[in-house]
Amino acid sequence: MKYKIRILKNGECRVRNYITYTDGNDDTSLFYLYVYVIEGGEKPMLVDTGPRDVEVFNKGTGKYIPGGVIQKPEERTPELLKQAGVEVNDVSHVFITHLHGDHYDYFDLFPNAQFVVNKRGFTESLMGIKPNVMRVLARRWPQSLKLVEDEEVMPGIRTFWLGCHSVCSQAVAVDTTQGTVVFTGDVVYKYKNMENNIPIGWAEPEPCLEAMKKIRKVADIVIPSHDPEILERFPEGIIGDVSG
Ligand SMILES: [Zn+2]
Repeated sequence: MKYKIRILKNGECRVRNYITYTDGNDDTSLFYLYVYVIEGGEKPMLVDTGPRDVEVFNKGTGKYIPGGVIQKPEERTPELLKQAGVEVNDVSHVFITHLHGDHYDYFDLFPNAQFVVNKRGFTESLMGIKPNVMRVLARRWPQSLKLVEDEEVMPGIRTFWLGCHSVCSQAVAVDTTQGTVVFTGDVVYKYKNMENNIPIGWAEPEPCLEAMKKIRKVADIVIPSHDPEILERFPEGIIGDVSG
């Protein structure tokens, strides 16, 4: 099974210290937010949901994202999907790269979807009783929360644990006619991290270098979480064709 990926820009912001963390360094770098649609299966699937409410997200993130996330009305997840011809009720799976607001927070937009979260990360997060994870647990357990390990979740779609940025960080590997696409989540913010082997700033470097090694083993095409250059490399916003 080979899928087609549709890349949808979900907003943008400027982020501090994305490569190396230096206190007092106020340089910022342009980040894009994305939602991805996996097409070609029985039903549409997504990688990440985007933030539900940018104003709420911005209240908690001023330290890292000084000007906040800017989202045009047409860049909000429901509008993006509508333009892409995706009916939210039809979405069967939402693969979550990690449980941070800009990646999972709109989960309740998809009433019929399985919400695919890393098992190890989810369990370890629960021990620390993170409020956001508790919220997920309360609202999604058990019928539509699917906890996964390193496994094939759907034909041609695999997840594997990464850690690094967050204990629940997992990669999502999707087979396409252009090769295996790996969505890294925030383990890799930009191509520069991956291609120059530079760990992201907001994490311990060693686990991130290990996680990037794992990604390299699997990926023909790496899709970092927030690089504006993704849309330069794929100007049509599409990777692969549908083929059975
Ligand atoms: Zn992110």
